[in-house]
Amino acid sequence: MHEILRVENLKVYFPLKRTIEDIVARRQRFLKAVDNVSFNIPEGAIMALVGESGSGKTTIARTVVGLVKPTDGHVYFRDRDIFSLKGEEFKVYRRKVQMIFQDPAVSLNPRMKIGDQVKYPLDVNKIGTKEERVEKTMKVLKDVGLSPPEDFYNRYPHQLSGGQKQRVAIARALVLEPEILIADEPISNIDVSARAQILNLLQQLRDRLHLSILYITHDLSSAWAISDQVAVMYLGKIVEMAPTSEIFSNPLHPYTQALISAVPSLNGFPLARKTKLRGEIPSPVNPPSGCRLHPRCPFAMPACREKEPEIITLGRDHIVACHLYSKS
Ligand code: SF4
Repeated sequence: MHEILRVENLKVYFPLKRTIEDIVARRQRFLKAVDNVSFNIPEGAIMALVGESGSGKTTIARTVVGLVKPTDGHVYFRDRDIFSLKGEEFKVYRRKVQMIFQDPAVSLNPRMKIGDQVKYPLDVNKIGTKEERVEKTMKVLKDVGLSPPEDFYNRYPHQLSGGQKQRVAIARALVLEPEILIADEPISNIDVSARAQILNLLQQLRDRLHLSILYITHDLSSAWAISDQVAVMYLGKIVEMAPTSEIFSNPLHPYTQALISAVPSLNGFPLARKTKLRGEIPSPVNPPSGCRLHPRCPFAMPACREKEPEIITLGRDHIVACHLYSKS
C-alpha cells in the first residue's frame, strides 16, 4: 500500500520559562514533547498512536495539522513536505487533513444549529451553491448515522447525547472530503455504551470513503479494536511499532508488555511474561537519561541508564527501541 502520510525524524521542543539558575548559567531548557519520531500511514489504513498523557501523541497530531511548529524533521503528505506549503497550497492540504477532538461538547457552538455547524467549513471555503452545501450537509449527517438528517439539522447540541455530538464533530470533519482524519481520543469523553459505536463508525468510514486515520489514544483495547498498525509512545519517543496483531501477540518492549498486562480485557493474549512497571511516569521536562523507561523498568541494566537504545527492526515491520534486543 502506498503511504499517504510520512512523519520523519520529527522533533517538537517547547522552551521552558527560565529560572534564576538558568539565567545565571546562561542556558535555555526545553520540554522535548516529541523527540525524533518517525512513522508512516499507508493509504486507507488506521494507525494508532498509543501512550499515556505527556507522551507526545497529541503534539504530533497538532504538528501534522499545522497548529504547532516543529523544531526539526519533516511531515510529508503524498510526498510533499507540508512545512514548505504556503498560502493556498497549505489551505488545500488542511482541507485534506481534518481533526476531531476529545470533547465534542467543547468543539460545538451551543447556540448554533447542528446543520449550520456541519455546513460551516463549506461556507468558509465557499464550496458550491447554498443548495449544494445544504445537500452535502444532509448527506454527511446521514453518513455518520444521524438520521433522518432533516431532523438533526435543526437541533442544537444540548439536544444530543455525547455519542451524537461526536458524530456531529465527525460529520463536520468529513464535509470537506478529507483524505486523512486525525481522531484525538475520540471516545474518552463519551458514554461507555456509545464508544464501540463510534469506533465502528470510524472503521465503516475508512472502508466506505477510503479514509486514512491517525487514531490517538491512551486506551490500548480501543487500539486493538480499530487499528491496523500500532505505535507505542513513551515520553516523546516511539518505543515500539508493529502491525496490530503482531504487537498484541508478540509485544517486545517492556513498556508495551506492561500496558497490555494492565488491561484485563487484553489478558487473553499469550504474553511471554507479565510486566509491571515501578512508580509513575516522570515529568517530560526532565526525562531520565539513557532509556527513558529505566527508572521504572524491571529489566533495566547498567547500559540502560547511560545509553539511549537505538531503534531495531525485528521481523517484518516490527521495530523496538530497547537494549534487550541490541546485538552489541
Ligand atoms: Fe528496560 Fe533497558 Fe529496555 Fe529501557 S532499554 S526498556 S530500561 S531493558
